[in-house]
Amino acid sequence: MAQQTGELAQLAASAATCTRCSLHKGRTQVVFGDGNPHAELMFVGEAPGFHEDRQGLPFVGPSGQLLNRLLAGIGLRREDVYICNVVRCHPPGNRDPHPDEIAACRDWLDGTIRLIDPKVVVTLGNFAARTLLETATGITRLRGRTYPFQDRVLLPTFHPAAALRADTSGRGENRTLKGMEEDFQTLRQLLQERRPEPLQAAHPEPSHPEPSHPEPVRPSVPEAPEARPDGEQLGLF
Ligand code: SF4
Repeated sequence: MAQQTGELAQLAASAATCTRCSLHKGRTQVVFGDGNPHAELMFVGEAPGFHEDRQGLPFVGPSGQLLNRLLAGIGLRREDVYICNVVRCHPPGNRDPHPDEIAACRDWLDGTIRLIDPKVVVTLGNFAARTLLETATGITRLRGRTYPFQDRVLLPTFHPAAALRADTSGRGENRTLKGMEEDFQTLRQLLQERRPEPLQAAHPEPSHPEPSHPEPVRPSVPEAPEARPDGEQLGLF
């Protein structure tokens, strides 16, 4: 475990001076990631925003506060999980990351996933889901189910920023936020299924009608890329 933590620190130190894409020109600092290096649950977002760029930590602005609330809703604290982004440098003007930037940053993402070795990966928004699932399908269609990812399970949900930008008039239901809340309930169930049975509960017959490990997970990644639904231009939902 100490070796893994050391390797993660080493990877972050290497990334700190990265100039593989043009995003390095406008950053204050590389926002590598934050959280429990031994977490079973890892979140992958899109890119550092203004606050993240200044503080050097992912999800510290309003999106981070919403993420913290959603975590608390299923009994988790921020320090229980690991959080990073598809690109580690703040895009100018908060624009979407470009494909070449995502590709340039991929090694850092793959290295982080390998070292954290989470059981469940939750992607936040379009870019993380499309990158890790290697699909052109948008998050609106991807979310609501789980996908096999390496030897883990991947659960796509909206980006918290999308929920914050969704209807805030108070006149209608915030469907993006509601969708995220549903996805976090799915997440809670996934984590429960992966917890080892308590010793005193050991019994020759299963106490649960379904297998404790959800292999195979529910529908796999759609094979054919689909058109991007309306409303996804922000890349967040
Ligand atoms: S976004 Fe990633 S690849 Fe680009 S400079 Fe930053 S760390 Fe390097």
